[in-house]
Amino acid sequence: MICDLHSHSSVSDGMLSPEALVAAAAEQRVDVLALTDHDDVSGVHAAAARGRTLGVRLLPGVEISVSEDEGRVQMHVLGLGVRPEHPDLLETLRGLREARQGRAARMLERLAGLGIALDAEPLLSREGVVGRPHVARALVAAGACSSTDDAFVRYLRRGRPAYEPSAGLSAQRAIDVIHGAGGIACLAHPPLSAGVDGPGGLAGAVERLASLGLDGLEVWHPGHRPAQIKRLGKLARERSLVPTGGSDFHGDGRRELRLGRGRGNLRFGAQSYQAVCDAIRARGGVTV
Ligand code: AMP
Ligand code: FE
Ligand code: FE
Ligand code: ZN
Repeated sequence: MICDLHSHSSVSDGMLSPEALVAAAAEQRVDVLALTDHDDVSGVHAAAARGRTLGVRLLPGVEISVSEDEGRVQMHVLGLGVRPEHPDLLETLRGLREARQGRAARMLERLAGLGIALDAEPLLSREGVVGRPHVARALVAAGACSSTDDAFVRYLRRGRPAYEPSAGLSAQRAIDVIHGAGGIACLAHPPLSAGVDGPGGLAGAVERLASLGLDGLEVWHPGHRPAQIKRLGKLARERSLVPTGGSDFHGDGRRELRLGRGRGNLRFGAQSYQAVCDAIRARGGVTV
C-alpha cells in the first residue's frame, strides 16, 4: 500500500490542478493521497471526486502557516482528516489568504525598491493562495531571474532583500482550528521550520507543541536526511506522536521527486496509515 500524506495543487503553490494531481497519483499507483494545500481546502472536493473514478482515496487536508514572535518563528502544521466544510476552518483560512495578499503586496514593493517592477494585478487577484512561489514565477516571467530557485536565492529567502515573513496563526490556534474541524495536527517537515533553534532546539519546540495538543510529527519527507528521519521517529515515539510522511509534491520539478515515493525513500505504508486513521477517528474527522 502506498500512502502520500502531503501534496499541493494549483489551489496553493502546486503546478497541477487538484484533478490532475490525483491523476498523477493514480499513475504512480498511490492508494491514499492527502491533499494539503497551504491555507486552503477548496481543492479537496474536486480531488476526491476524481479520486473516486481513478481509485485513489483522497484524504482531506491542509497545511496551515504558523507565525510567532513577529515572524521569527515560522512553522507549517498539517491538518489531516479535516472536515472541509467546517465554518471556523473556512473562515480562518480565508483570513490567512487575505493576509498573504498584503504580504505579497509588500514583497512587490520591496522588489520595486530594488528596481524590479512586476505587474501586481495577476498576483494580487489570484483566486487561491498567493505565496513566494508565485512571486518567484513572476520574477522568472519578467526575465529578472533565471529560475524560481534563483529568485528564492537572490530575493525571496529569509535574509534576502524581498523577504517578508508569512502571515500565520499561533501554534495553539492552528492546532485548535484543526481539532475543531475533526482533523489531527501534525508538525510538517520539522527541520525546515524557522526560528526553532533556541533553547531546547527542535525537540523543545516539539515538546511545547505536544503540550498544546499536537497529534503527529511528519517523520518521512524528501527534505529530511536519513539521520533526521531516525531522530524524528524517536522523538515521535517518546512524545506519543503519530508519525506521518509525504512527498510534499508541488509538481514544479524543483526536486527530483515523485508522488508516493519522494526520492524513493518515503516508505509510508499500511501500518503507519492505520495509526493515522485511528488518531483521526479519535478526533472525529474524515478517514478514507
Ligand atoms: P510561502 O508559504 O509563501 O512562504 O512559500 C513557501 C513555499 O515556497 C514552500 O511551501 C515551497 O513550496 C516553496 N519554496 C521554498 N523554497 C523554494 C525554492 N528554493 N524554490 C522554489 N520554491 C520554494
Ligand atoms: Fe509550498
Ligand atoms: Fe510546508
Ligand atoms: Zn507542503
